Amino acid sequence: MRKIGYYVILVIFLMIIIPVIILGGVDNGIKIPGIINRFSSYIESLPQQTQYTQESGGPKIKVYVEDQKKIVEMYMEEYLKGVVAAEMPVSFNEEALKAQAVAARTFAYSHMIVNNGTGCTKHPGADVCSGVHCQAWMSKEERFKNWNPDDAKANWDKITKAVDDTKDIVLAYKGELAKSILFHSTSGGKTENCVNVFGYQVPYLISVDSPNEEEAPSFQTKVVMKREEFINRIKQLNSKTKISNTNLSSQVKIIEYTEGGRVKTLKAGDKTFSGVDIRWAMGLNSANFSISIDSKNITFNVKGYGHGVGMSQWGANEMGKRGKKYDEILKHYYTGIEIININDILKNKN
Ligand SMILES: [Zn+2]
Repeated sequence: MRKIGYYVILVIFLMIIIPVIILGGVDNGIKIPGIINRFSSYIESLPQQTQYTQESGGPKIKVYVEDQKKIVEMYMEEYLKGVVAAEMPVSFNEEALKAQAVAARTFAYSHMIVNNGTGCTKHPGADVCSGVHCQAWMSKEERFKNWNPDDAKANWDKITKAVDDTKDIVLAYKGELAKSILFHSTSGGKTENCVNVFGYQVPYLISVDSPNEEEAPSFQTKVVMKREEFINRIKQLNSKTKISNTNLSSQVKIIEYTEGGRVKTLKAGDKTFSGVDIRWAMGLNSANFSISIDSKNITFNVKGYGHGVGMSQWGANEMGKRGKKYDEILKHYYTGIEIININDILKNKN
């Protein structure tokens, strides 16, 4: 190995340094910088190529680990095991786990700064963080603590298999890595158009049916609060709202629903609010809710859990249980998506 190192140094010396010395530097108009540029870009490309062929699993990704409060570098495929372990119950169908691995891998590659991704916008220098801001991740050790020791090894093997069986597989749209892969826990029956939640349109993030989710723990939930508390929270959203406790039910009205069946706009007093703002202000699992008001309380009946955009994890599990493969699950939730090998995308870019 050491010998090869010497040869590399010798070649660099012969190819760059000697011509520079002979020609009197790089500023004399002769195309030496071109040679240097080509050569340095070749050197730059080396570590990446080496990483992609490594058995240990892809390039290194910089993960800001929330509970350690620092950036930790880890191999992509190892990182993904921690994402699948944190994002889905291990009891889920293996095709759902594979679909999760592919969605998480796509999210990770598209965020990597070396692939022209933005990285994690909350933690400068990191590609992704381990919190809900990016996608959940937990270490093998942490995960094992929450599992029955008798099952822990088999559980981890199941997750490892889902990641290994989909190694390097990502989602693409029109030949490009899909940059906006979102997923959520439970849709409540129908997923949501991205534009209704995040304000921007993504062609593969449009509303689709997501049946058979009734078994999900958050399929239906209820939030009850005092009428006064509701009014307080509305005023926290907009302090200028004119709303009174007398005849409250005549002052609160859902105005419009989205294509995905969630509340788009709601009128409270003399102001209009988005369903998403109401969701956060009232602490609801989703923006898919109905309202009833009695003499003391206001009750929200809520369907689903999460923003509702992209793949529903509980819906994916149901599809897997009914014999659908991971690629069918992904194509169902991400309209018009292609399933592709990451190396094919990165090769075309270079
Ligand atoms: Zn983040």
